[in-house]
Amino acid sequence: MASRGTRFFDSGWFCMTEITGHCLCGAVAFRIRGPVRDVHHCHCGMCRRATGAAFATLVWVQRDAVAWTRGRPASYRSSAIATRGFCAVCGTSLYLDYDGSAQFALLLGAFDAPAELRPSHHYGIEGRLPWVDIQAALPGKETDVHPQP
Ligand SMILES: [Zn+2]
Ligand SMILES: [Zn+2]
Repeated sequence: MASRGTRFFDSGWFCMTEITGHCLCGAVAFRIRGPVRDVHHCHCGMCRRATGAAFATLVWVQRDAVAWTRGRPASYRSSAIATRGFCAVCGTSLYLDYDGSAQFALLLGAFDAPAELRPSHHYGIEGRLPWVDIQAALPGKETDVHPQP
């Protein structure tokens, strides 16, 4: 779609070769080499608490495309099927990682150029707060038992 700009494929895979980001204090930094699989808003209660925000915006990439270029995130087992990563110094939420998945989600707020990463849908819409009307025209899915990039 032309409105998405020339940096985006119509397929939804993003045409960027290197993407960087870091936590608020800078102790942890990352680099992604490879396509972004998907970007979506997650409205589930776990993402809300983990980020301290009304919802989380997740950036899905292949796990092996992610390199930690400074420091390492601390991790917390947030459920029987996933861990979440954060900076142990400043607390910035950095990732959601489902056990055994080839996909890996980083939190959009930690990216150096988040405006380039455009969400395609909402997830966990049964948990969406009633006053959250951002990008309301995008499609939505309810939470599933399986990871949904
Ligand atoms: Zn930090
Ligand atoms: Zn979630």
